Amino acid sequence: MNRFHLPRLAPPAALGAAMLTVAAVGLIGTGTSAADPAPSPAGTGKAAAPATDLTQHPKLSLPAPDPAKWGTPQRGADVMASSVRADGSRVITFYTPVPGESASTLYQLLKKQGVTGLQDPAAPATSGSTASGSTASGSTTPALAAAGITSCRYGTAQLYNCATDSNVAHQFHWTNGCCTDPQIWFVDHTGSSWPVNASTSVWNQTPGIDSHYVYGSCPNYSGQHCVGVTSANYGCSGWEGRTTLQPSSTNYYNIAGASIELNDYNGTCATSAGTVNYAKNSSGYRQATCHEQGHALGMGHNSATDSCLYAATMMASSYEQPDTDDFTLLSQLYSVAY
Ligand SMILES: [Zn+2]
Repeated sequence: MNRFHLPRLAPPAALGAAMLTVAAVGLIGTGTSAADPAPSPAGTGKAAAPATDLTQHPKLSLPAPDPAKWGTPQRGADVMASSVRADGSRVITFYTPVPGESASTLYQLLKKQGVTGLQDPAAPATSGSTASGSTASGSTTPALAAAGITSCRYGTAQLYNCATDSNVAHQFHWTNGCCTDPQIWFVDHTGSSWPVNASTSVWNQTPGIDSHYVYGSCPNYSGQHCVGVTSANYGCSGWEGRTTLQPSSTNYYNIAGASIELNDYNGTCATSAGTVNYAKNSSGYRQATCHEQGHALGMGHNSATDSCLYAATMMASSYEQPDTDDFTLLSQLYSVAY
């Protein structure tokens, strides 16, 4: 696939309507103006960054996928909730447990907090159905199967929706919009502990989708997508980070908007399910950042101990980055245009 990002088509009028929906639920979605970007980290304590660090982090040259590695989807080890917002739009949120916490413990804590639409992590995944309230008809992605992608799980990596719905045609993805490859802008609003910039450059190595970093505000490029990354003290919530995707109202598996929230809470606290420890070293911050960004791009969990998408936050450098299966699967997801 051509890696040059040639402007393709003006965004359809429908995009404007989608944007209104996105704004209404507080997610950042597709930009609607073509203003020049001006990454502006002033006053943040974070270093300025080039929008795209392709010199330092060029696209990976990945081998063709090994057909033997398309595997059976596995149920995720963290907790997912599907809910309908007041405006009728549906969002799906992945919650990531704090270090040492099991998915079942987090599930119990979220349930007590009144989070609705929770899926019990012990429940089996569905297969090929319209799980999580999939509502759109004809909203599949048969192009993936045509490209030889026979499963939403590759090696130890799998896609976001894979644990819920194993149908390869039911996987969430960003649209190409303006460009040859989807253009994702991670808009950083986090404190200095969260290395969003460095993690974005690593994800940007993925062929087929470009990840850009900007501090503070979405550049609003026409046909490009912004993902807000915030951190705040969410207290003893039971989760380290959570990523929310909003399916498009016109094609359920197109992502209309996404947001990432990271929990600044530090230390331990007592919960009904026992003592929960949020304390992290730099590897823990890095893994959690990389992990949630992976979810925002369309990735689910990786069962290997060399991936940031491992379901639990660990404290070791081996978990700081995606592994080869993550890169391969994500690049395969975006090997076709949407
Ligand atoms: Zn996760």
